[in-house]
Amino acid sequence: AARLPSAAGASPAMQQWFAAKAAHPEALLFFRMGDFYELFFADAEAASEALDIALTYRGEHQGERIPMCGVPAHSHESYLARLIRRGFRVAIAEQMETPEEAKRRKAGAVRREVVRLVTPGTVTEETLLEASRPAWLLALAPAEERLGAAWLDLSTGAFETEALAAGDLPALLARLEPVEVLAPAALGLPGAVEANPPRDGARRLAEAYGLATLEGFGSFSAAEAAAAAMALDYIRATQKGEAGRTLPHLSRPVPRGGRGVLQMDAATRRSLEILRSDRGGPRDCLLGAVDRTVTAAGARLLADRLGCPLAEEAPIAARHDAVAALLAAPALRGGIRATLKGAPDMARALGRLALDRFAPRDLAAIRDGLARAAAIAAALERPEGLATIPPLLAGSARALRPANDPAPELARALAETLPARLDDPGIVAAGYDGELDGLRRLRDDARGAIAALQLDLAQAWGVASLKVRHHQQFGYLAELPAAAGETLLRNPPARATGDFAPIHRQTMANGVRFTCAALAALDRRLSEAAEEAARREKAIARHLRDLILAAAPGIADAAEALAEIDVHAAAAELAAEGGWCRPEITERPEFCVTAGRHPVVAAALVRNRGPAFVPNDCDLSPGRRICLLTGPNMAGKSTFLRQNALLVVLAQAGLFVPAEAARLGLVDRLFSRVGASDDLAGGRSTFMVEMAETAAILNLAGPRSLVVLDEVGRGTATWDGLAIAWAALEALHDRTRCRTIFATHFHELTALAGKLPELAPATMRVREWKGEVVFLHAVAPGTAEKSWGLHVAKLAGVPRAVLARAAQVLAALEARAKGLDPLSDELPLFARPAAAPPPAAAGDGHPALAALAALDPDALSPREAQEALYRLKTLA
Ligand code: ADP
Repeated sequence: AARLPSAAGASPAMQQWFAAKAAHPEALLFFRMGDFYELFFADAEAASEALDIALTYRGEHQGERIPMCGVPAHSHESYLARLIRRGFRVAIAEQMETPEEAKRRKAGAVRREVVRLVTPGTVTEETLLEASRPAWLLALAPAEERLGAAWLDLSTGAFETEALAAGDLPALLARLEPVEVLAPAALGLPGAVEANPPRDGARRLAEAYGLATLEGFGSFSAAEAAAAAMALDYIRATQKGEAGRTLPHLSRPVPRGGRGVLQMDAATRRSLEILRSDRGGPRDCLLGAVDRTVTAAGARLLADRLGCPLAEEAPIAARHDAVAALLAAPALRGGIRATLKGAPDMARALGRLALDRFAPRDLAAIRDGLARAAAIAAALERPEGLATIPPLLAGSARALRPANDPAPELARALAETLPARLDDPGIVAAGYDGELDGLRRLRDDARGAIAALQLDLAQAWGVASLKVRHHQQFGYLAELPAAAGETLLRNPPARATGDFAPIHRQTMANGVRFTCAALAALDRRLSEAAEEAARREKAIARHLRDLILAAAPGIADAAEALAEIDVHAAAAELAAEGGWCRPEITERPEFCVTAGRHPVVAAALVRNRGPAFVPNDCDLSPGRRICLLTGPNMAGKSTFLRQNALLVVLAQAGLFVPAEAARLGLVDRLFSRVGASDDLAGGRSTFMVEMAETAAILNLAGPRSLVVLDEVGRGTATWDGLAIAWAALEALHDRTRCRTIFATHFHELTALAGKLPELAPATMRVREWKGEVVFLHAVAPGTAEKSWGLHVAKLAGVPRAVLARAAQVLAALEARAKGLDPLSDELPLFARPAAAPPPAAAGDGHPALAALAALDPDALSPREAQEALYRLKTLA
């Protein structure tokens, strides 16, 4: 935009360009000129590079050539998709009148207007959307300590809100993975579009839905309303015209979150790889491993459920009931899945229809989707192999037949095969509309008449090889070979008079083109009939759209019901495939899994024809709430940790779990810290991140939480690390009282087993065989005898000489360590504080002096030194 010259002296069309560009400086301007969208100046340079298309020049502006590139209008979507994916925003300026209309107005150029601003969060085209992921546009409105969040998916109309603590924003971002974020600059979110919440959010939101107040919406905070209004404003600004004003298909915003859902922070989501895996492919995340849905809408709903599991017993049990019923009735399930397979994406088709940005196939999508919905409703009304049908499925079945069902009319109206674009003929079936049929007959008659006229002309002009052909530019013309054409021009036969008198149009290398009064009249009749038919077809298509929109809420519900049925049937399919069980969800603080498996690792082993996955039990019931897991690297500790956390996610999302049996007390918050968590981009060391995350757990976890922790304290020197791990375990045991699996390589920690009554030590079984280590991947009670580090180093290919030397050093260290076991009770260092420890007043001197004595200036970074000073200040 900095390089944009002034508009002075520009042509009328370029004047329009400058005006549109000035209104949308942040976007590339697609400027409609006939069959192309053209881009100029810096836009052209950026787009030609991003799209790898030719940069040309067109005319001059203030003595400089104007850089230009263009994309064909009929195929612009794929270019648009690439630009949006590259992070551009695109403003689309359309021609708002025909050249004839402009001429009549005596205007220098056809009127153009920016009709739409295309951004990642506001696209609706199939080619621009990821089929199995929602496209959330997230708006954030800070209000005092809280943060109002509202997110909507314009492609389906889904709209939700939540009020968060400011610190929960990373968790929300990780859960939604929004494609576009609107936020005030003060939040400092990288990549966010700058926008500010309106002050009268609630009023504007109510107005947008034609309501006097928001009371009917459920309980909304002012911050949520402000965020929702902010999102709506943005939609209005990007979707010009009628659709932008009325937003016909957006559902009312639904307040979400709070107590009813399982809380997981961003680090937990990353660690569990729920919706994506940073290291692996799409199948290496939980969603990828368990997704058996057969529709895109089903896949989106499953992703939503796994990303946001529930935390209340009744709704979870209702989902399990639905899965159990479909598991028990394989024929019903198979029938439903066969019908669902290939069902169109009604929610997104409806979105495009509502925004008036639809193609004929969107009409067909509603017709076909509703037909399949009716078939599934019929199957569920007489369920094969089921005595009763659980309430969730019954409710879905009812929603599958919307009121004012437009499907029968659509079935009658739409042609069997449809053209790609609304401008093309052939949308409407024969026999649906008398007037259209008449126009088409006229057109067909004229075609017959043209064939007859070709014969007559051939005779009259004495040229047997005469052909009447249609030309884009001239309409129907009679084509003669060059020689015959010359003869006709110079020496027309006697019969070539009156209506048949040849009129020369064009001479080419190998032929001459003529018309005559008779041909011109026919041509006119034909093109008029075709135009009239096209107008009529468009009117019918709009009528069908209106029919659909009149029934839109019901159709949206039917689409949602199909997605739910898909998710339940998919969960049943998955359970049948893998012998998964229904988890028993209770309100007690228990956790008891028999023969559990890791859904992703087990599937990968099968896929790669690896060894069988070894199932493991896990019991964290009262009396043994903390499992302290030891074992060498590669023995399967992190797999076991994640597996039990994932079981909770699956169970509370409403799916069955990979186990023989599972009794799970509801989890309110799930914490997982497994695997290295560097935050190099954030400028924090591994250890700093680890400590921040440990702090979060100790502050936030409660008696209903589940915590899986791997190697706390590994990021620092041994003694620091051990001390921190020790203190953290004590705190989890005594204060937090959550269910915990705590994996560690500090074997010294097992000394705590005698002191913390609810601590249950467990270890990964390993066998030594002919000097080799064999991992059995089985969890057993007890403690690892040794850490096998050298064996693992050998497996990894560390040179033999180094291994031999390491063995020597190890033996020496072990011999020395025997004399000074820091954890023996004789040493006061690690003696446990009393149950309610008094604030530690160190020694007999002043506490600040004690703290000062404990400082080692050589070991402090400047930052730590400053922090230490502050600490001392507070003690003084
Ligand atoms: P650790 O955390 O102890 O270093 P991992 O959990 O990363 O070990 O496991 C190492 C490898 O062992 C995994 O990649 C997996 O292939 C295999 N493994 C882990 N648990 C099992 C199991 N229960 N059954 C079979 N193989 C397993």
